[in-house]
Amino acid sequence: MRQLGSFPGGLVLDGQKNRSTHLAIRQAPLSKTLILPLQQHIGEASVPTVVIGERVLKGQMIARANGHVSVNLHAPSSGHITAIDNQDIPHPSGLSALSISIETDGKEQWAPLIKTDNYQKLSAHDLRQNIRYAGIVGLGGAGFPSFIKLNPGIHHFVDTLILNGVECEPYITCDDMIMRERAEGILDGIAIMRHAIKAKSCIIAIEDNKPEAITAMQSALAQHSDHIDTEIVIVPTRYPAGSEKQLIQVITKLQVPNNKLPIDIGIVMHNVGTAYAIGRAINHGEPLISRIVTITGQNVNKAGNLEVLLGSPIRDLLDFCEATTQNPSQLLLGGPMMGYHLTGCDLPITKTSNCILAGVENAVTEPMPMPCIRCGECATACPVSLLPQQIYWHARAKELEKTQEYNLFDCIECGCCSYVCPSEIPLVQYFRFAKTEIMNQEDEKKKSNVARIRHENRQTRQETEKREKDLRQQRRKATLASEHVDKETS
Ligand code: SF4
Ligand code: SF4
Repeated sequence: MRQLGSFPGGLVLDGQKNRSTHLAIRQAPLSKTLILPLQQHIGEASVPTVVIGERVLKGQMIARANGHVSVNLHAPSSGHITAIDNQDIPHPSGLSALSISIETDGKEQWAPLIKTDNYQKLSAHDLRQNIRYAGIVGLGGAGFPSFIKLNPGIHHFVDTLILNGVECEPYITCDDMIMRERAEGILDGIAIMRHAIKAKSCIIAIEDNKPEAITAMQSALAQHSDHIDTEIVIVPTRYPAGSEKQLIQVITKLQVPNNKLPIDIGIVMHNVGTAYAIGRAINHGEPLISRIVTITGQNVNKAGNLEVLLGSPIRDLLDFCEATTQNPSQLLLGGPMMGYHLTGCDLPITKTSNCILAGVENAVTEPMPMPCIRCGECATACPVSLLPQQIYWHARAKELEKTQEYNLFDCIECGCCSYVCPSEIPLVQYFRFAKTEIMNQEDEKKKSNVARIRHENRQTRQETEKREKDLRQQRRKATLASEHVDKETS
């Protein structure tokens, strides 16, 4: 029996998971229009490869990766491209971004799929390229291109691949349901990932509040003797145990050092949904065109998990699940701890949308923040051992350098501090704001540095040109003078 570690702080929360697990995963209805933002991943936005009016097939690439940290984007259904323009996207800031719109034709006609008969014959490099081509990103919420995390580099050795099936945030059950219903598919993906990174061992981590998922994964594993050195580890339910560094601490008792990555201590972590998507992409040739989304909350009559085509408007999903509200102020994308309010119901589902939450039980509708009473509750709850009240003071005073001295960027935005604060101070909002400000300032600094270097280069070039011109003139004059002397002496 594995001895587990722990992390500081954290909370035991009312999970509200049963609301959305009594129905099997259902197929969401096909929407009339699908809106596909070109940036559904961390990194550079992809570049359209289609034009307005073009007919596309389900699974056809419609935008290609742009640069190293980027992935392709595919048509989730057959139809016609009706627009390539800025559309509102699900984002905390209510941004709009360049997107491709598809008017679906209801035929669901697939493009030819290129599947791999035996992934073991492929090199790690080719596997990663196929995963990249299929547009796969981390489906746990971060959206980091998966092929990059499957490339440990020549200086690293992967001791353990951890599959994250913890799903610690209340209300969200999409990983729970995929483990219950598609355990075999997850194992397929795990085998492919292990082949790519040559991981010595593998751990599938599941919180102890998901007994059905644990049973399903255990029985699938029991039928696959080829999954050697693979272990299911049941971790105690405590938020935010599903966060990458916290989960590593629980499972291995190791801490990922500051400014380092899990790979620096021989660990690679992927979400169980991502593993499933990788299995479908390599063994069946299916690019990432859909994902499981939890539709839940006290204002949803038929809460559950849906297989949703990317680009589907949230409104259609709420209708399908008989939600009693479509008021954006009552809707969260994600869970109650880390989710954010939607700016509208027509926003599309993207690769990172895991949950639409319509109505949180016992939610305080209008928090009335009071002054900080320096009780220290926030510091006790922080799983990263930060001092949230200090960061808050400095963020409030716009002393951004000081926030960094208190390790603002180690904050994982889990919301534990805000949750326990008796003064109801929205601490995480201050931290997000401070991070954005710092990043904007750094961007500005970089831009002005680039402008300064360009200016200096231009000045140097102009001076060099002037010097060369002067030199040429002097030479010409000298030549003319010597020709003149020659003429006079001859
Ligand atoms: S929990 Fe709230 S009131 Fe208490 S120290 Fe932290 S910020 Fe201040
Ligand atoms: S949001 Fe940040 S500061 Fe607050 S508890 Fe989580 S990690 Fe700590």
